[in-house]
Amino acid sequence: MRIGIYPGSFDPVTLGHYDIIVRSSHLVDKLIIGVLNNSAKNPVFSIEERVELIKKVTKDLENVEVLSFEGLLVDFCKQMNANVIIRGLRAVSDFEYELQIAQANHKLNRDVETIFLATSTHYPFVSSSVVKEIARYGADISRFAPECIVDDIYKKFK
Ligand code: ADP
Repeated sequence: MRIGIYPGSFDPVTLGHYDIIVRSSHLVDKLIIGVLNNSAKNPVFSIEERVELIKKVTKDLENVEVLSFEGLLVDFCKQMNANVIIRGLRAVSDFEYELQIAQANHKLNRDVETIFLATSTHYPFVSSSVVKEIARYGADISRFAPECIVDDIYKKFK
């Protein structure tokens, strides 16, 4: 069984993330969305909120599970018996950092491969930061965030 992990902060999950989730769920038997619990990143949404928002967005995707994790990604992969890490690439600027992380992870665990999915042409500019910035000013985020969580995001900034 091929188990993939799509790790990230997802603060909050966006349409760009959702696109990667749907596409990568077709590549593996089971996709685990690993929400990183890292308080050093000062997330706006708590770990519980980020997990709940992704669960809401992915409720119709049968082979997708959402879990939080702390510590090293390779340890989480081992724990989950995952052999594939999924990451999304938006632009060349993502590449250098992602390459380093992928190489380090491969050194730490030879059984895990990182697969990069190129962002769809609809979402290269979509990021959690953009969603938060627009929501903070009460402007329209419906082209950036999944419809079913738009109100949850606005609520956070009221
Ligand atoms: P991290 O803090 O680990 O970068 P993010 O939540 O920002 O977590 O992103 C998680 C993953 O999703 C990363 O691989 C990132 O490149 C990817 N990603 C984010 N936004 C998009 C997008 N619009 N299109 C494709 N991939 C994306």
